[in-house]
Amino acid sequence: MLDADFFRRWMTATAASVDREAERLTALDSPIGDADHGSNLQRGFRAVAATLEKEAPETPGAVLMLAGRQLISTVGGASGPLYGTLLRRTGKALGDAAEVDQQELARALRTGVDAVMQLGGAAPGDKTMIDTLVPAVDALGGSFAAARTAAEEGALSTTPLQARKGRASYLGERSIGHQDPGATSSALLIAALAETAGE
Ligand code: ADP
Ligand code: MG
Repeated sequence: MLDADFFRRWMTATAASVDREAERLTALDSPIGDADHGSNLQRGFRAVAATLEKEAPETPGAVLMLAGRQLISTVGGASGPLYGTLLRRTGKALGDAAEVDQQELARALRTGVDAVMQLGGAAPGDKTMIDTLVPAVDALGGSFAAARTAAEEGALSTTPLQARKGRASYLGERSIGHQDPGATSSALLIAALAETAGE
């Protein structure tokens, strides 16, 4: 079973991974965006880690809802409200259970991903974080390791796509041939989940 401490460790592991990969995320956001994705998420997840250390919410749902609120209030770019919605809505779906199992997490994450699609209007194939999150959540019904592999493949799958949502869509066909930064950071989030689960 996964308790509040597991979810805190997931968020802390994500913050560490975003710190390590911030330059790469910003470099990916340079040809098809405005070169701020790494610094946006670094600011956001550092704030998440700091808040979770201070407040220590007692349930998995409360950890994710607090993390989501922090992202929304600290990240200026499009990705802040999108990731914030993902975590808040996933947390809300987990309710006030003290522990949840992997299948409950998979179902809650699906609710969160659906909320991101509704907010941003993106579907799979539009070259966004959705191309990572949808296959990852599908695979989470199997194992954490399968979710990580599906996320990494999802991020790579964005390279040949033409962007239909977000800043990269302004480039039209010139967005083809570049890996999407948000799809890449979503793979870090899922990899941190698998790492926290010991897979
Ligand atoms: P901004 O585009 O405002 O500079 P970021 O650079 O932080 O914000 O984030 C860009 C990433 O956000 C993109 O790579 C993409 O994955 C994701 N994104 C942008 N718009 C959408 C959307 N409408 N739906 C889902 N994801 C989106
Ligand atoms: Mg950007």
